[in-house]
Amino acid sequence: MQIFKSVSLKPYNTFGINVSAEFYAELTHEAEVQELCSDPKLPAKKNILGGGSNVLLTKPVAGLTLRNCLKGIAVLEENEEHVWLQVKAGEIWHDLVLRSIAQNLSGLENLSLIPGCVGAAPMQNIGAYGVEVKDTIDEVTAWHIYDQEFVSFKNSECRFGYRDSIFKHGLKNKVVITSVTFRLNKSHQLNTSYGAVQQQLDLMGVSVPTIKSVSDAVIAIRSSKLPDPKQVGNAGSFFKNPTIPRQQFLDLQERYLTIPSYPVSDDMVKVPAGWLIEQTNWKGYREGEAGVHSKQALVLVNYGKAKGEEIWSLSEKILTSVKEKFGIELEREVNVW
Ligand code: FAD
Ligand code: NAP
Repeated sequence: MQIFKSVSLKPYNTFGINVSAEFYAELTHEAEVQELCSDPKLPAKKNILGGGSNVLLTKPVAGLTLRNCLKGIAVLEENEEHVWLQVKAGEIWHDLVLRSIAQNLSGLENLSLIPGCVGAAPMQNIGAYGVEVKDTIDEVTAWHIYDQEFVSFKNSECRFGYRDSIFKHGLKNKVVITSVTFRLNKSHQLNTSYGAVQQQLDLMGVSVPTIKSVSDAVIAIRSSKLPDPKQVGNAGSFFKNPTIPRQQFLDLQERYLTIPSYPVSDDMVKVPAGWLIEQTNWKGYREGEAGVHSKQALVLVNYGKAKGEEIWSLSEKILTSVKEKFGIELEREVNVW
């Protein structure tokens, strides 16, 4: 395997930020991960990159950046209700979704068109349109960089939460996820109640939805609302939707009658971060080459030559004004390197 020095990561991150990796290699076979992580001549610091659609690069990346290009899909097991698919971490997420639909397996259709690779999906428990990937993950296998062994995590050990998992916390930069095993369903329980999915199905004239039509609807909504990273650099939602105590929400509702909310539990409420950012007048704002998308305020964009620090600095200003106006502390969803 070739190891390169001083490689620009611009083609490998969807923000299109031009910073260089001190060392760079592409992982195409599982055995290589062991070799690379035990080589004393290589830097101890390893940075794992998939499709680069959830990272903001703010400075030159020290250490060895490993782009996960492991490919392969295998059926591990099958019974009357489910199929267990083991998918290597470098497979493209949306290709997996389309493949599962073509095989008439349900579970991933609402997660259509999310950029990136399969190995990153457990990281933040990717979610969209009322579905989270945790509902289909059976097991995650990874190389532990410091313990020097392959380890497997059953679903319950991954500590999945809202856009969260153990891989984003205790195991961050300590493991290289090499494969994910999904348990997909032969029977189809469709979830069309979220956001604009049902509306889009109606628009498409679909009266009896299937997993394929739900996927088509999600693709249509996403294509109309979200900036295509090939046209304008972005990493999707920059911030998480905050979850706040119900009483804090009720106090805010007295001042802001139209504040949207979704109950999370008896005493906690989710407030869309996009609405908070819009209300603080950032939607469509541009500062040099960095900006806030005009159709979705949750998405920060690079109009061309923005530096990672400029996007970061814009995100700081947004955090401050949302905190000042609503008393809510937004949290970045994007991984900052
Ligand atoms: P990367 O950006 O390469 O990596 C993200 C993080 O995971 C990094 O910290 C990296 O070190 C780590 N990582 C990556 N691969 C591995 C591995 N194999 N082992 C260990 N660590 C690893 N996300 C959603 O949840 N829902 C959405 O609907 C959604 N929509 C999006 C729409 C757009 C237009 C864009 C640009 C992004 C969107 N995202 C969404 C965010 C992003 O696509 C997902 O989080 C995706 O899973 C990131 O995959 P990636 O391969 O690009 O990860
Ligand atoms: P939307 O449908 O305009 O809704 C705005 C926000 O309200 C979303 O963030 C969503 O929260 C929440 N919401 C809407 N309907 C809900 C319901 N029935 N129950 C609970 N919460 C509800 O959102 P959008 O921007 O077009 O995105 C659509 C979906 O794609 C969302 O699920 C969003 O998370 C996902 N997405 C994620 C990213 C990313 O980078 N993470 C980027 C683009 C889109 P949730 O976000 O919690 O679902």
